[in-house]
Amino acid sequence: TGSSEGTPAADAYPRKILEYMEGFLISKTVFSSCELGVFDVLLSAERPLSAEEISQAIGASLDGTQRLLAACTGLQLLNTHQDDGRVSYSNTEQASVYLTRTSPSSLYQSIQYSSRTIYLCWHYLTDAVREGRNQYEKAFGVSSKDLFQALYRSDEEMVKFMQLMNSIWNICGKDVVTAFDLSPFKVICDLGGCSGALAKQCTSAYPECTVAIFDLPKVVRTSREHFVTEADQRIGFHEGDFFKDPLPEADLYILARILHDWTDERCIELLSKVYKACKPGGAVLLVEALLHEDGSGPLTAQLYSLNMLVQTEGRERTAAQYGALLAAAGFTDTRHRLTGKIYDAVLGLKETSCCGNV
Ligand code: SAM
Repeated sequence: TGSSEGTPAADAYPRKILEYMEGFLISKTVFSSCELGVFDVLLSAERPLSAEEISQAIGASLDGTQRLLAACTGLQLLNTHQDDGRVSYSNTEQASVYLTRTSPSSLYQSIQYSSRTIYLCWHYLTDAVREGRNQYEKAFGVSSKDLFQALYRSDEEMVKFMQLMNSIWNICGKDVVTAFDLSPFKVICDLGGCSGALAKQCTSAYPECTVAIFDLPKVVRTSREHFVTEADQRIGFHEGDFFKDPLPEADLYILARILHDWTDERCIELLSKVYKACKPGGAVLLVEALLHEDGSGPLTAQLYSLNMLVQTEGRERTAAQYGALLAAAGFTDTRHRLTGKIYDAVLGLKETSCCGNV
């Protein structure tokens, strides 16, 4: 179906290219609407509000607010209501659930981190690709020799990072902890367990397990004080450096979004420590965004791998690549399950000493 000049009709209007070129306009519209509190104001009003009312509540210009509200309507984040020629706005259900600060499934903190940190790092994506390394020095003026010292360059940054890590597990956590039946594993250690969001998903899915969150001392202290409550009695803490310190004994070690931060060499170093600490018959669960074996997708994992380049020392990998890292550390029996959401699960078993694989 070519045009009269023989050019395929699909090429006449580069819809995809235009969308890609302007994709950041959408991200920034969402970031600013959240930062200004548009969705929070509409949630607490419990009735549709006019642009004037919203602009006053968020302390912004009327003209700017009107344009922002129009764009949010176009993005299907806001509904409009017409009454005697007066226009008012309300949140769509998705906006209420995911874009307001107080919702239990809120992505507000992730959006804040995307806006204030990730967006700034991605400004240097071209340099990251050219140099093959992260761009913390250019973006924030801090050395990235020690990755987590750079990420946690202030206590405030550390808390923001922890909030970022926390929010996704309310949405994808149950799927990853139930991708395999983990009920045989009663003592679980969540290495780099951060805010404890995945630990909470484990204790709610498996009533008989206990989970120790192992993380750097200041992360553990913050997690204990601000993220994990006394009510989470089956969640404990262990301060340490997983590259340097002994690991606590456990039946199952969870490494969620840990290996994607590191080079293959460091991953094997860490997994070898896990293998030594793991009881025979025990296992390791990797939780990562898996790439297809031929690298053809999913797009989210492909983009996350670029994000790892810009921000860390690691990359996203395929299930076979994780299998190879696990095998290099001694785990012989590995399998993976896709969840259909962002994060997937890879399980590596440690043989029982006498009778082969469990
Ligand atoms: N597992 C959590 C999740 O998926 O939400 C957090 C993943 S975050 C990308 C990496 C975690 O590893 C952070 O909590 C960080 O503090 C921790 N971490 C980094 N280096 C560490 C080290 N050397 N020893 C212990 N924990 C470390």
